[in-house]
Amino acid sequence: AQAATGSVVTARIDTAALIRNARTVAARVAPAQLMAVVKADAYGHSIDIVAPALYAAGLRDFAVATVPEAVALSQLLGPDSGARILCWLFDSAADLTACTRAGIELGISTPEALEAAIAAGEQTGLTQDVHLKLDTGLGRNGLSLQQLETVLDRLRELATQAGTAARAQGTTASAPVRVTGIMTHFANADIPGDPATVDQLHCFDTLYGRLQAELPYALRADDLMVTLANSPAALSLDPVPGSHVRAGISLYGISPFEDRTAAQLGLTPVMTVTSRVLNVKDVPAGHGASYGLTYRCERDTRFALVAGGYGDGLPRIAGNRGEVAIQGRRYPIVGRIAMDQMILDIGPAETGGEVAIGDEVIIIGDGTTGPSAEEWASWCETINYEIVTCISARVDRIAV
Ligand code: PLP
Repeated sequence: AQAATGSVVTARIDTAALIRNARTVAARVAPAQLMAVVKADAYGHSIDIVAPALYAAGLRDFAVATVPEAVALSQLLGPDSGARILCWLFDSAADLTACTRAGIELGISTPEALEAAIAAGEQTGLTQDVHLKLDTGLGRNGLSLQQLETVLDRLRELATQAGTAARAQGTTASAPVRVTGIMTHFANADIPGDPATVDQLHCFDTLYGRLQAELPYALRADDLMVTLANSPAALSLDPVPGSHVRAGISLYGISPFEDRTAAQLGLTPVMTVTSRVLNVKDVPAGHGASYGLTYRCERDTRFALVAGGYGDGLPRIAGNRGEVAIQGRRYPIVGRIAMDQMILDIGPAETGGEVAIGDEVIIIGDGTTGPSAEEWASWCETINYEIVTCISARVDRIAV
């Protein structure tokens, strides 16, 4: 696990809230099962904290984007964990044998990616498990219909070769790759009722029907892991499609919908970013704050200096827009956020007097304790996903 370095800015990770969120999502999607998406260091929450906590709570299915993430997760959980790990974003020129040896399943989005998986299976003498990743409308990574045809041809060819070799040797057929899953990803699931999602579901059904008839290397259809839904789809579609959902953001207690809060979804934010007041001083009317002096106070006031800046992943654009909380009260961030620090105008001594050096500052909270990731997102013209994911590596993550 990541060792605490004693950073002033810290991210507390509430593992009890994480597990409650996972149970809430799992209950919503049943009989589909939950696959936890823990890519990008568990959306900034620390995979070292999040994955073992979910595993200890009984979860066995995990997904990340990249091969290094998948290999690290496999090592973290250990070789005999029984966990399934899926990843889907890799360079088809890369050596994937570490995945094959670790039993990591690969999402296949191009015929080239399939070749890389086959090569890894052949080099290791093992079978590389693959999920066919279908582009049903997002236009991002995923097999087009034409690419799917090429992949199916190749799988058929491999099946024939394996069958011939097995007959010659009198053994059971074994192939370098085996299809264990089918997947797709939605473009607009965060807008419940959006027709694009219906179109994608239809497209998936058509392709899936065809695959079930054709797949020479599939397990029985019942055993295939079929994943379509991300968090917004998992929380809004009825019925929830697929055998499993690939849910990320909801586990971290963050709403994927613009018009529904985490609380309305029964979710609790997992991350709280805290800091400390490092300086408090009186400044006269007209005094400027931070680079560019984009803020000048209108009256005599007090400035409080707080550790935390864009070097910690707090976007510079939130200067003169955002707020943080000290002892439950909100104070405005004035002037530009710098790399390591920000300034608050805490008001004149009579009103700002209660803020003292050493006070705890809630930079990102649940909306009550301090500003939520959604509030930060609105100040920064982005989405809550980006706010938590960008909290940088120098911020200690502390499991609470
Ligand atoms: N599946 C894929 C392919 C993804 O890229 C992501 C995240 O962006 C997810 C699932 C999880 O999405 P969410 O965090 O909205 O649950």
